[in-house]
Amino acid sequence: MARPRFIDPFQPAEVRRLVREFGSPLLILDCERVRVQLRKLRKALPHVDLHYALKPLPHPAVVRTVVEEGGYLDLATSGEVQLVERLGISPERCIHTHPIKRPADIANALEFGVRTFVADNPDEVRKFARHRDAAQLLLRVSFRSPGAVCDLSRKFGCDPEGVLELARVAAGLGVGVRGLSFHAGSQTPDATKHVEALEACAALMAAARREKLGVFDTLDIGGGFPIDYTQPVQDIGRFCAPLRAALARLPKRVRVIAEPGRYIVGPAAIGVASVMGRAQREGHWWYYLDDGLYGSYSGQLYDHARYPVEPLRDGAERLPSVLAGPTCDSIDVIAENLMLPPLKAGDLIIGRAMGAYTRASATEFNFFPRATVVAVNTRPGDGGAVDPLAL
Ligand SMILES: *Cc1c(COP(=O)(O)O)cnc(C)c1O
Repeated sequence: MARPRFIDPFQPAEVRRLVREFGSPLLILDCERVRVQLRKLRKALPHVDLHYALKPLPHPAVVRTVVEEGGYLDLATSGEVQLVERLGISPERCIHTHPIKRPADIANALEFGVRTFVADNPDEVRKFARHRDAAQLLLRVSFRSPGAVCDLSRKFGCDPEGVLELARVAAGLGVGVRGLSFHAGSQTPDATKHVEALEACAALMAAARREKLGVFDTLDIGGGFPIDYTQPVQDIGRFCAPLRAALARLPKRVRVIAEPGRYIVGPAAIGVASVMGRAQREGHWWYYLDDGLYGSYSGQLYDHARYPVEPLRDGAERLPSVLAGPTCDSIDVIAENLMLPPLKAGDLIIGRAMGAYTRASATEFNFFPRATVVAVNTRPGDGGAVDPLAL
């Protein structure tokens, strides 16, 4: 029998076929690559339970793939709770990690069956007094990370000096504290911050246990694991080596979890946009695409990312070119000073590593529709099922 043939979504012929079938712009999501990323991170962090943070790409195909691979989920909003509930996923696989929640957000998550929540201040801990029989907390600790592309400890987290006092507030209310969490910043260049935060948390957890402030048997080391964009980063095994060493020094009873987002989905999708029209301006070819900074390329603004972009068409001749988005706004320019072969209307432009924080933050400004997500390789070994689920 012939072996099932995987669709390699990054083959030019397949990309063209998918555009013919589903239109443009597209985000082609390769679920096989999601599996590979999950396995690579597992290998780099053995014994760490990986909760995929839905925020970078809250797509059903990603969520299903992660769960089918035995992974867990990190939810932060009622919308994410609804998505996971709709897919029939067990709430036991989920934690809720938004440090600031409305009563309805807590109620929705509890009703679904989530039991572990995050808090980082006394007001938020008090919101759980009435749910103390149903919910337990991780206290989020802040460790500033000025080196990270996105410092996630400015807006959220309790100072390390305040953690024991916060744990006392919880203990006083009878709210169970399971442990601590942190987020060392996204796309961090190395694991130095993770290791510092991990060691500081381990000391705080030991102090809290001595004071009998809770079980403190869980440590959540957050996300932040970096991927290649236009600049290559450390391979994940090397990135995690100092973390593995620090994890090995933790007491055996501590269960460690992580919340990777970008690492799982970033490399798993490419953006495909079409040239709508072109013009020659001041010696440069300007190509106007049907996706741009208000769409899938929004990550260039919000996430400070630069995606490797290239035309699907090859050509020996290369001319100075600009790739612009479709809207009437002048900031909507994707890349300038590129050397590209001459393109014409209908030609396709590929953006790589576009799974994370791209379409998730896209708008429909000027009524240009967001990219359609086409998930391929949705089941391992099924011969390349295409599943055009829209968000
Ligand atoms: C955004 C976020 C993540 C995912 O971070 P990555 O850097 O994409 O891995 C994980 N946890 C929390 C609480 C987040 O806000």
